[in-house]
Amino acid sequence: MKFQLSAMTILCSTLLLSSCAQTMQATSNNLAELNTADRVAQQYIIVDTHIDVPYRLHKKWEDVTVATANGEFDYPRAQQGGLNAPFMSIYIPASYERTGGGYQLANQLIDSMEALVARAPDKFAMASSTQQVLAQFGSGKISLAMGMENGTPIEGKLENLQHFYQRGVRYITLAHSESNHISDSSYDIRRRWQGLSPFGKELVVAMNNIGMMIDISHVSDDAFYQAVAISKVPVIASHSSLRSYTPDFERNMDDDMLKALAKNGGVIQINFGSSFVTRQANQYNALRKAAAQQAGVEDNQAFREAYSKTHPYPFATLDTVLDHIDHVVKLVGINHVGIGSDYDGVGDSLPIGLKDVASYPNLIAGLFKRGYSEEDIVKILSGNLMRVWAEVEAYAAKQAS
Ligand SMILES: [Zn+2]
Repeated sequence: MKFQLSAMTILCSTLLLSSCAQTMQATSNNLAELNTADRVAQQYIIVDTHIDVPYRLHKKWEDVTVATANGEFDYPRAQQGGLNAPFMSIYIPASYERTGGGYQLANQLIDSMEALVARAPDKFAMASSTQQVLAQFGSGKISLAMGMENGTPIEGKLENLQHFYQRGVRYITLAHSESNHISDSSYDIRRRWQGLSPFGKELVVAMNNIGMMIDISHVSDDAFYQAVAISKVPVIASHSSLRSYTPDFERNMDDDMLKALAKNGGVIQINFGSSFVTRQANQYNALRKAAAQQAGVEDNQAFREAYSKTHPYPFATLDTVLDHIDHVVKLVGINHVGIGSDYDGVGDSLPIGLKDVASYPNLIAGLFKRGYSEEDIVKILSGNLMRVWAEVEAYAAKQAS
């Protein structure tokens, strides 16, 4: 099998992995029979940095080793879409900062992913390093990496960072929808720390040293700028989109932040949720709440259903998500964008054409249509994120030696 210059090849040579030749060989089976988008989805690694399977199963268990009626992720659909390494979100709701119990819940969610692997070792394997993702590629197993969404379970103790690193967590989203003991949140009007807390600043350094990626999705602008100023390695936005399409929505990144992120060497992983990619969808809930208030009724399930009949939810499309990718590429180049779909995390708000983990070939076909080369597409699918992750690993290895 002849390989053109691919991100896989670049990664292999960068990481000097002996298993690479073997894994690339495994991908060559039957590829010739597939259409281009499906071939690319199967031939290269796809990393999606934010999928909310653990919390979805915590709320309502389903067997994702087989096709499920609900949700956006299961093994058959992931295989069909060519997904290799989803970061399973160890999501801790913001309220746990006040009530306690975040450490407990995080451990339980991690346990649930280990149980999934133990129950279907032919379909899933844990992955806590770039080497493991590469080595398991082509094995038919989906590598489950883990990222912790909300640093609440750290509870102000660096030994907890060590604990969750040992359990396999490889990124921490510093805060979620409310400010916590680490950082201010973009959703929270209280700016308790004007960015990162003193402990948060210490934590960024400790995360660098241990090899934990810093995720700046959800944090306030001040916290973002402080994190990139302190971090010695590139940071990620695990599931964020662009503010230029959703003005005033601080949860997304503006152009100045994208430039700072690129300068830092980091990567923004585009969130697919309609409310993240179009202004119309972003404002939908607020407009509905206002309508309920005006009518003097509660914004409950019955009202929501009635409202949606006269005001259908404005689903975004695949093209809008491609616009976000284009915007990043035009502004800062091809090396700083990837995918962080937020599947299983944004309810019924996913764009037409990107409804579940079987949809990555649609994204790939759309990128080809817009003139992206195969090499560039591979950077978006995983190359950029894997480069950052490898840099984070290398920095930590150097600190340890
Ligand atoms: Zn989130």
